Amino acid sequence: MAKSPWSKQVTKALRADGVDLSAIDTSATPGFKGNKKSGEQLLAERGQVLSDLQEKLFANGRSGDPRNVLLVLQGMDTAGKGGIVRHVIGSVDPQGVDHAAFGVPTAEEKRHHYLWRIRRRLPTGGQLGVFDRSHYEDVLVVRVHDMVPPEVWEKRYDEINKFERKIVDSGTTLIKVAMFVSLDEQKKRLAERLDRPDKYWKFNPGDIDERAYWPAYQAAYQAVLDRTSTDYAPWYVLPADRKWYARLAVTELLIDALDKLKLDWPGPLFDIEEQKKRLAAS
Ligand code: AMP
Ligand code: MG
Repeated sequence: MAKSPWSKQVTKALRADGVDLSAIDTSATPGFKGNKKSGEQLLAERGQVLSDLQEKLFANGRSGDPRNVLLVLQGMDTAGKGGIVRHVIGSVDPQGVDHAAFGVPTAEEKRHHYLWRIRRRLPTGGQLGVFDRSHYEDVLVVRVHDMVPPEVWEKRYDEINKFERKIVDSGTTLIKVAMFVSLDEQKKRLAERLDRPDKYWKFNPGDIDERAYWPAYQAAYQAVLDRTSTDYAPWYVLPADRKWYARLAVTELLIDALDKLKLDWPGPLFDIEEQKKRLAAS
């Protein structure tokens, strides 16, 4: 068997337990021994593996299996959440993907509990759900900008843990990925959005204002990792300065989760011999 390009399983290399965000190197490639070129080559191969596994998940869902997978992506602007959706999720069959992006709550959403809009978008049997931002915004941007008093957001960590426990018990494999770029890398990426006509659409002047809140966001992310990384719904801390690594690592996290479901092709819901006879006679 070929030697693995990983020195450590990606699930172990990125697990958030005890992580100190102020000490992480956002340009690192934890667990991966290769370089950009070999990483990109591997991504193409592994994307195919992911796609095959996802097809099995979808097929089982069609046959009534309630199991599904939900990838939660969190990260500051420019961290590369959109790139994961395009390049990783983009390699699988779209009919099995349920993608939801959560922005500033709409007037209707504001009238409800913060988990209301999340519940409505949870994946069902056979789906690969992807959340671009999530209920965690309600303890991130909301906490950083004092949108609700501390006594309100303070209770949300436990509430989120209970909510996720229920989701997992109902058949969802939850994979939570927090993507981190350095403040400098973010500056470069924002500059690119101002230099390239194909990127203007991603630029939001407010993103520059948010840079002043970087330490507050770091503290809020640290609290999320400390308080909501559970054995049933762990957080993975993903250094994201290198886009190729981030994409490869998320591909591996998804493959790992799908492997653990031990999916097989679903058996027929009909009598094969009988149907063959009917087809021959038709
Ligand atoms: P983007 O992901 O670039 O489209 O931006 C979405 C924006 O919506 C970000 O600035 C988020 O911080 C913001 N957002 C998401 N959820 C919430 C929330 N619950 N309350 C306030 N702002 C939010
Ligand atoms: Mg944005």
